[in-house]
Amino acid sequence: MNDFDDDSPPASRRATAFDCVDCSANNPVDDGFGPDDEVTCYYCGSVFVVAESNGKLKFKPA
Ligand SMILES: [Zn+2]
Repeated sequence: MNDFDDDSPPASRRATAFDCVDCSANNPVDDGFGPDDEVTCYYCGSVFVVAESNGKLKFKPA
């Protein structure tokens, strides 16, 4: 045993759902997403770029 027990991926930083800014639909994202990813609303088709601000994810129209 050694102390190198901290190599887990930063999965906790990735979100697995978002609320569409345009139509308020909740969109689950199976693969998760994080800052600089693009997400697409499955209801209205809007595409957003994910940005992080003060530790929270923001969605900007792509
Ligand atoms: Zn939408």
